[in-house]
Amino acid sequence: MNLDLAKIETFKELFSQPKRVVILSHTNPDGDAIGSSLALAEVLKSLGHTVNCILPNRFPYYLKWMPKSDSLIIHSLDKLGITQSVIESADVVICADMSSLSRLEALYEIISTNTTAKRVLIDHHLSPSDEFDIVFSFPESSSTAYLVHEILKTAYGKGVFTKDIATLLYVGMITDTGNFAFSTLNSDLFHAVADLCETGIDIPRIYNNVYNSFTEGRARLFGYVINRKMKTILNGRVAYMSLTENEMRKFWFQQGDSEGFVNYPLSIKKVKMSAMFSEQQGGFIRVSLRSHGNVDVNTFARRYFNGGGHLNAAGGKSFMSMEQTIAHYVASVEEYHKEGLV
Ligand code: 5GP
Ligand code: MN
Repeated sequence: MNLDLAKIETFKELFSQPKRVVILSHTNPDGDAIGSSLALAEVLKSLGHTVNCILPNRFPYYLKWMPKSDSLIIHSLDKLGITQSVIESADVVICADMSSLSRLEALYEIISTNTTAKRVLIDHHLSPSDEFDIVFSFPESSSTAYLVHEILKTAYGKGVFTKDIATLLYVGMITDTGNFAFSTLNSDLFHAVADLCETGIDIPRIYNNVYNSFTEGRARLFGYVINRKMKTILNGRVAYMSLTENEMRKFWFQQGDSEGFVNYPLSIKKVKMSAMFSEQQGGFIRVSLRSHGNVDVNTFARRYFNGGGHLNAAGGKSFMSMEQTIAHYVASVEEYHKEGLV
Protein backbone atom coordinates (compact mmCIF):
# COMPACT_ATOMS: atom_id res chain seq x y z
CA MET A 1 0.00 0.00 0.00
CA ASN A 2 1.30 3.42 -0.97
CA LEU A 3 0.67 5.54 2.09
CA ASP A 4 1.60 9.19 1.76
CA LEU A 5 4.26 9.62 4.46
CA ALA A 6 3.61 13.37 4.70
CA LYS A 7 0.01 12.55 5.54
CA ILE A 8 1.14 10.08 8.21
CA GLU A 9 3.23 12.89 9.69
CA THR A 10 0.17 15.18 9.70
CA PHE A 11 -1.76 12.41 11.47
CA LYS A 12 1.01 11.97 14.07
CA GLU A 13 1.24 15.73 14.56
CA LEU A 14 -2.50 15.88 15.23
CA PHE A 15 -2.03 13.30 17.97
CA SER A 16 1.21 14.69 19.40
CA GLN A 17 -0.73 16.20 22.34
CA PRO A 18 -3.52 14.47 24.34
CA LYS A 19 -6.78 14.89 22.45
CA ARG A 20 -10.47 14.17 22.98
CA VAL A 21 -11.26 11.87 20.10
CA VAL A 22 -14.55 10.54 18.77
CA ILE A 23 -14.54 7.63 16.32
CA LEU A 24 -17.68 7.16 14.22
CA SER A 25 -18.73 4.47 11.81
CA HIS A 26 -21.64 3.71 9.54
CA THR A 27 -25.28 2.77 10.18
CA ASN A 28 -25.87 -1.01 10.38
CA PRO A 29 -22.28 -1.52 11.54
CA ASP A 30 -20.50 -4.70 10.43
CA GLY A 31 -17.33 -6.48 11.56
CA ASP A 32 -15.10 -4.06 9.67
CA ALA A 33 -16.84 -0.95 11.03
CA ILE A 34 -16.57 -2.20 14.62
CA GLY A 35 -13.16 -3.86 14.33
CA SER A 36 -11.44 -0.91 12.72
CA SER A 37 -13.08 1.65 15.05
CA LEU A 38 -12.25 -0.22 18.26
CA ALA A 39 -8.69 -1.07 17.18
CA LEU A 40 -8.02 2.57 16.37
CA ALA A 41 -9.57 3.58 19.71
CA GLU A 42 -7.42 1.16 21.70
CA VAL A 43 -4.19 2.33 20.06
CA LEU A 44 -5.05 6.01 20.53
CA LYS A 45 -5.98 5.35 24.18
CA SER A 46 -2.64 3.63 24.74
CA LEU A 47 -1.00 6.82 23.43
CA GLY A 48 -2.76 8.91 26.08
CA HIS A 49 -5.84 10.18 24.25
CA THR A 50 -9.43 10.14 25.49
CA VAL A 51 -11.41 8.15 22.95
CA ASN A 52 -15.08 7.29 22.49
CA CYS A 53 -16.49 5.13 19.69
CA ILE A 54 -20.05 5.94 18.65
CA LEU A 55 -22.26 3.95 16.28
CA PRO A 56 -25.54 5.29 14.84
CA ASN A 57 -27.47 2.10 15.66
CA ARG A 58 -27.09 -1.33 17.22
CA PHE A 59 -24.70 -3.95 15.95
CA PRO A 60 -25.49 -7.68 15.49
CA TYR A 61 -25.58 -9.88 18.62
CA TYR A 62 -23.03 -12.32 17.18
CA LEU A 63 -20.34 -9.60 17.26
CA LYS A 64 -20.82 -8.87 20.97
CA TRP A 65 -17.88 -11.16 21.82
CA MET A 66 -15.46 -8.71 20.15
CA PRO A 67 -12.91 -7.26 22.60
CA LYS A 68 -13.99 -3.87 24.01
CA SER A 69 -17.33 -3.94 22.18
CA ASP A 70 -19.08 -3.13 25.48
CA SER A 71 -17.44 0.31 25.30
CA LEU A 72 -19.30 1.20 22.08
CA ILE A 73 -21.85 3.99 22.49
CA ILE A 74 -25.01 3.32 20.48
CA HIS A 75 -26.68 6.57 19.46
CA SER A 76 -30.14 5.08 18.85
CA LEU A 77 -30.20 3.79 22.47
CA ASP A 78 -28.80 6.98 23.99
CA LYS A 79 -31.57 8.61 26.02
CA LEU A 80 -29.26 10.91 28.01
CA GLY A 81 -27.70 12.92 25.20
CA ILE A 82 -24.26 11.37 25.79
CA THR A 83 -23.45 11.18 22.08
CA GLN A 84 -24.27 14.87 21.63
CA SER A 85 -22.05 16.04 24.49
CA VAL A 86 -19.16 13.73 23.57
CA ILE A 87 -19.22 14.88 19.95
CA GLU A 88 -19.60 18.55 20.86
CA SER A 89 -16.51 18.48 23.06
CA ALA A 90 -14.31 16.45 20.68
CA ASP A 91 -11.05 17.89 19.32
CA VAL A 92 -10.83 15.23 16.61
CA VAL A 93 -13.55 13.22 14.87
CA ILE A 94 -12.42 10.14 12.96
CA CYS A 95 -14.85 8.53 10.54
CA ALA A 96 -13.96 4.91 9.81
CA ASP A 97 -15.37 2.65 7.09
CA MET A 98 -17.72 5.20 5.51
CA SER A 99 -17.17 7.70 2.73
CA SER A 100 -19.55 10.48 3.69
CA LEU A 101 -21.17 11.90 6.84
CA SER A 102 -24.59 11.09 5.39
CA ARG A 103 -23.93 7.42 6.27
CA LEU A 104 -24.26 8.50 9.92
CA GLU A 105 -28.01 9.07 9.34
CA ALA A 106 -29.46 10.10 12.74
CA LEU A 107 -26.02 11.25 13.96
CA TYR A 108 -25.55 13.55 11.00
CA GLU A 109 -27.24 16.59 12.60
CA ILE A 110 -25.12 16.27 15.74
CA ILE A 111 -21.83 15.98 13.91
CA SER A 112 -22.69 19.10 11.95
CA THR A 113 -22.95 21.09 15.21
CA ASN A 114 -19.26 20.57 16.03
CA THR A 115 -17.52 22.79 13.54
CA THR A 116 -14.17 23.01 15.36
CA ALA A 117 -13.04 19.37 15.51
CA LYS A 118 -10.54 18.19 12.91
CA ARG A 119 -12.21 15.58 10.74
CA VAL A 120 -10.22 12.53 9.70
CA LEU A 121 -11.48 9.97 7.19
CA ILE A 122 -10.14 6.40 7.11
CA ASP A 123 -12.07 4.44 4.51
CA HIS A 124 -12.10 2.08 1.55
CA HIS A 125 -15.39 3.00 -0.17
CA LEU A 126 -15.53 4.67 -3.57
CA SER A 127 -16.06 8.44 -3.95
CA PRO A 128 -15.13 9.99 -0.58
CA SER A 129 -16.93 13.27 0.15
CA ASP A 130 -15.05 16.56 0.70
CA GLU A 131 -16.19 16.95 4.32
CA PHE A 132 -12.83 15.93 5.87
CA ASP A 133 -9.51 17.63 6.74
CA ILE A 134 -7.25 14.57 6.60
CA VAL A 135 -8.29 11.84 4.17
CA PHE A 136 -7.04 8.26 4.00
CA SER A 137 -9.24 6.93 1.20
CA PHE A 138 -8.15 3.66 -0.41
CA PRO A 139 -10.96 2.01 -2.40
CA GLU A 140 -8.48 -0.68 -3.45
CA SER A 141 -8.05 -1.73 0.18
CA SER A 142 -10.05 -4.88 0.96
CA SER A 143 -11.16 -3.59 4.38
CA THR A 144 -10.85 -0.52 6.54
CA ALA A 145 -9.20 -2.76 9.16
CA TYR A 146 -6.31 -3.44 6.77
CA LEU A 147 -5.98 0.30 6.17
CA VAL A 148 -5.99 1.00 9.93
CA HIS A 149 -3.26 -1.62 10.32
CA GLU A 150 -1.12 0.07 7.68
CA ILE A 151 -1.61 3.58 9.08
CA LEU A 152 -0.90 2.59 12.69
CA LYS A 153 2.09 0.42 11.79
CA THR A 154 3.61 3.17 9.65
CA ALA A 155 2.97 5.82 12.28
CA TYR A 156 3.85 3.95 15.49
CA GLY A 157 5.33 0.55 14.60
CA LYS A 158 3.70 -2.84 15.00
CA GLY A 159 4.49 -2.87 18.74
CA VAL A 160 1.17 -1.05 19.28
CA PHE A 161 -0.81 -4.16 18.26
CA THR A 162 -1.87 -6.11 21.33
CA LYS A 163 -3.64 -9.46 20.95
CA ASP A 164 -7.03 -7.76 21.45
CA ILE A 165 -6.27 -5.08 18.87
CA ALA A 166 -5.04 -7.73 16.43
CA THR A 167 -8.25 -9.72 16.99
CA LEU A 168 -10.34 -6.64 16.19
CA LEU A 169 -8.40 -5.95 12.99
CA TYR A 170 -8.57 -9.60 11.94
CA VAL A 171 -12.37 -9.58 12.28
CA GLY A 172 -12.57 -6.54 9.99
CA MET A 173 -10.31 -8.20 7.44
CA ILE A 174 -12.24 -11.49 7.30
CA THR A 175 -15.73 -10.03 7.36
CA ASP A 176 -15.04 -7.69 4.42
CA THR A 177 -13.31 -10.35 2.30
CA GLY A 178 -15.57 -13.37 2.94
CA ASN A 179 -12.75 -14.90 5.01
CA PHE A 180 -10.12 -14.01 2.37
CA ALA A 181 -12.19 -15.30 -0.53
CA PHE A 182 -13.02 -12.19 -2.53
CA SER A 183 -12.23 -8.50 -2.93
CA THR A 184 -8.76 -7.18 -3.59
CA LEU A 185 -6.47 -9.75 -1.99
CA ASN A 186 -2.73 -9.29 -2.30
CA SER A 187 0.50 -10.18 -0.56
CA ASP A 188 0.44 -6.93 1.47
CA LEU A 189 -2.77 -8.08 3.15
CA PHE A 190 -1.22 -11.40 4.13
CA HIS A 191 1.86 -9.62 5.48
CA ALA A 192 -0.52 -7.62 7.66
CA VAL A 193 -2.20 -10.87 8.77
CA ALA A 194 1.26 -12.20 9.66
CA ASP A 195 1.77 -9.18 11.94
CA LEU A 196 -1.54 -9.95 13.63
CA CYS A 197 -0.61 -13.65 14.04
CA GLU A 198 2.56 -12.65 15.85
CA THR A 199 0.42 -11.30 18.72
CA GLY A 200 -0.98 -14.80 19.32
CA ILE A 201 -4.53 -14.31 18.00
CA ASP A 202 -6.65 -17.45 17.95
CA ILE A 203 -7.81 -17.72 14.32
CA PRO A 204 -10.10 -20.80 14.65
CA ARG A 205 -11.79 -19.22 17.67
CA ILE A 206 -12.31 -15.94 15.82
CA TYR A 207 -13.72 -17.83 12.82
CA ASN A 208 -16.19 -19.73 15.01
CA ASN A 209 -17.20 -16.58 16.85
CA VAL A 210 -17.93 -14.79 13.58
CA TYR A 211 -19.43 -17.55 11.43
CA ASN A 212 -20.79 -20.24 13.77
CA SER A 213 -22.52 -18.24 16.48
CA PHE A 214 -26.03 -17.70 15.14
CA THR A 215 -29.39 -18.70 16.60
CA GLU A 216 -31.54 -21.60 15.38
CA GLY A 217 -34.06 -19.04 14.12
CA ARG A 218 -31.43 -17.56 11.82
CA ALA A 219 -30.64 -20.97 10.28
CA ARG A 220 -34.34 -21.64 9.66
CA LEU A 221 -34.91 -18.15 8.27
CA PHE A 222 -32.02 -18.70 5.86
CA GLY A 223 -33.57 -21.96 4.63
CA TYR A 224 -36.90 -20.23 4.15
CA VAL A 225 -35.43 -17.29 2.23
CA ILE A 226 -33.42 -19.45 -0.17
CA ASN A 227 -36.15 -22.01 -0.72
CA ARG A 228 -39.22 -19.79 -0.84
CA LYS A 229 -38.14 -16.25 -1.57
CA MET A 230 -35.23 -16.40 -4.01
CA LYS A 231 -36.28 -15.49 -7.54
CA THR A 232 -34.18 -15.25 -10.67
CA ILE A 233 -34.50 -13.07 -13.75
CA LEU A 234 -32.47 -12.49 -16.94
CA ASN A 235 -32.43 -16.20 -17.67
CA GLY A 236 -31.11 -17.06 -14.21
CA ARG A 237 -28.24 -14.54 -14.25
CA VAL A 238 -29.69 -12.12 -11.71
CA ALA A 239 -31.28 -13.12 -8.39
CA TYR A 240 -33.22 -11.33 -5.69
CA MET A 241 -34.85 -12.11 -2.36
CA SER A 242 -37.07 -10.22 0.02
CA LEU A 243 -38.04 -10.32 3.68
CA THR A 244 -40.96 -8.54 5.30
CA GLU A 245 -41.11 -7.70 9.01
CA ASN A 246 -43.89 -10.25 9.35
CA GLU A 247 -41.70 -13.02 7.94
CA MET A 248 -38.80 -12.02 10.18
CA ARG A 249 -41.03 -12.20 13.27
CA LYS A 250 -42.00 -15.78 12.42
CA PHE A 251 -38.34 -16.77 12.75
CA TRP A 252 -37.64 -14.85 16.00
CA PHE A 253 -35.56 -12.38 14.01
CA GLN A 254 -32.77 -10.56 15.78
CA GLN A 255 -30.90 -7.65 14.23
CA GLY A 256 -28.16 -8.94 11.95
CA ASP A 257 -29.78 -12.32 11.28
CA SER A 258 -30.14 -11.66 7.54
CA GLU A 259 -26.58 -10.30 7.07
CA GLY A 260 -24.78 -12.32 4.44
CA PHE A 261 -27.90 -13.94 2.93
CA VAL A 262 -27.43 -11.78 -0.17
CA ASN A 263 -24.15 -13.55 -0.96
CA TYR A 264 -25.69 -16.99 -1.23
CA PRO A 265 -27.30 -16.76 -4.71
CA LEU A 266 -23.80 -15.97 -6.03
CA SER A 267 -22.84 -19.56 -5.18
CA ILE A 268 -24.97 -20.54 -8.21
CA LYS A 269 -22.59 -20.59 -11.15
CA LYS A 270 -24.82 -18.62 -13.50
CA VAL A 271 -25.71 -15.85 -11.06
CA LYS A 272 -23.72 -12.64 -11.54
CA MET A 273 -25.76 -10.25 -9.39
CA SER A 274 -27.87 -10.67 -6.27
CA ALA A 275 -30.14 -8.40 -4.24
CA MET A 276 -31.78 -8.64 -0.84
CA PHE A 277 -34.69 -6.39 0.16
CA SER A 278 -35.49 -6.28 3.86
CA GLU A 279 -38.16 -4.24 5.59
CA GLN A 280 -36.82 -2.02 8.35
CA GLN A 281 -38.36 -0.34 11.35
CA GLY A 282 -38.96 3.22 10.23
CA GLY A 283 -40.90 2.19 7.17
CA PHE A 284 -38.29 1.78 4.48
CA ILE A 285 -36.67 -1.15 2.72
CA ARG A 286 -32.97 -1.82 3.01
CA VAL A 287 -31.41 -2.84 -0.28
CA SER A 288 -28.25 -5.01 -0.31
CA LEU A 289 -26.49 -5.77 -3.58
CA ARG A 290 -23.65 -8.16 -4.45
CA SER A 291 -22.05 -9.14 -7.75
CA HIS A 292 -19.27 -11.07 -9.42
CA GLY A 293 -16.54 -9.73 -11.70
CA ASN A 294 -17.16 -6.50 -13.55
CA VAL A 295 -20.89 -6.20 -12.79
CA ASP A 296 -20.79 -2.86 -10.97
CA VAL A 297 -23.35 -2.75 -8.14
CA ASN A 298 -21.90 0.49 -6.74
CA THR A 299 -23.09 2.32 -9.86
CA PHE A 300 -26.35 0.36 -9.80
CA ALA A 301 -26.98 1.33 -6.16
CA ARG A 302 -26.20 4.99 -6.83
CA ARG A 303 -28.34 5.14 -9.94
CA TYR A 304 -31.43 3.27 -8.81
CA PHE A 305 -31.43 3.18 -5.00
CA ASN A 306 -29.74 6.41 -3.91
CA GLY A 307 -26.94 4.39 -2.30
CA GLY A 308 -23.38 3.29 -3.01
CA GLY A 309 -20.58 1.07 -1.74
CA HIS A 310 -18.01 -0.98 -3.62
CA LEU A 311 -17.83 -2.50 -7.11
CA ASN A 312 -19.08 -5.93 -5.92
CA ALA A 313 -20.89 -5.01 -2.67
CA ALA A 314 -23.21 -2.06 -2.33
CA GLY A 315 -26.47 -0.98 -0.78
CA GLY A 316 -29.18 1.63 -0.67
CA LYS A 317 -32.74 2.28 0.44
CA SER A 318 -36.22 2.20 -1.00
CA PHE A 319 -39.18 4.15 0.35
CA MET A 320 -41.70 2.34 -1.85
CA SER A 321 -43.71 -0.77 -0.94
CA MET A 322 -42.00 -4.15 -1.24
CA GLU A 323 -43.96 -4.90 -4.41
CA GLN A 324 -43.00 -1.58 -6.00
CA THR A 325 -39.39 -1.95 -4.86
CA ILE A 326 -39.10 -5.34 -6.54
CA ALA A 327 -40.78 -4.02 -9.72
CA HIS A 328 -38.32 -1.10 -9.71
CA TYR A 329 -35.41 -3.53 -9.28
CA VAL A 330 -36.55 -5.78 -12.13
CA ALA A 331 -37.01 -2.77 -14.46
CA SER A 332 -33.64 -1.34 -13.41
CA VAL A 333 -31.88 -4.65 -14.05
CA GLU A 334 -33.43 -4.73 -17.52
CA GLU A 335 -32.22 -1.19 -18.23
CA TYR A 336 -28.74 -2.09 -16.93
CA HIS A 337 -28.78 -5.20 -19.12
CA LYS A 338 -29.71 -3.17 -22.23
CA GLU A 339 -26.62 -1.04 -21.60
CA GLY A 340 -24.53 -4.21 -21.45
CA LEU A 341 -23.72 -3.67 -17.76
CA VAL A 342 -25.07 -6.99 -16.52
P1 5GP B 1 -24.67 -4.07 3.02
O1 5GP B 1 -25.34 -4.73 1.87
O2 5GP B 1 -23.79 -5.01 3.77
O3 5GP B 1 -25.59 -3.26 3.85
O4 5GP B 1 -23.69 -2.99 2.38
C1 5GP B 1 -22.74 -3.31 1.43
C2 5GP B 1 -21.89 -2.11 1.14
O5 5GP B 1 -22.68 -1.04 0.62
C3 5GP B 1 -21.19 -1.55 2.36
O6 5GP B 1 -19.90 -1.21 1.98
C4 5GP B 1 -21.98 -0.35 2.73
O7 5GP B 1 -21.19 0.63 3.31
C5 5GP B 1 -22.57 0.12 1.40
N1 5GP B 1 -23.91 0.66 1.63
C6 5GP B 1 -24.97 -0.01 2.16
N2 5GP B 1 -26.06 0.80 2.22
C7 5GP B 1 -25.70 1.99 1.73
C8 5GP B 1 -26.36 3.25 1.54
O8 5GP B 1 -27.56 3.42 1.84
N3 5GP B 1 -25.62 4.25 0.99
C9 5GP B 1 -24.32 4.09 0.63
N4 5GP B 1 -23.67 5.14 0.10
N5 5GP B 1 -23.66 2.94 0.81
C10 5GP B 1 -24.32 1.89 1.34
MN1 MN C 1 -15.57 -2.05 5.24
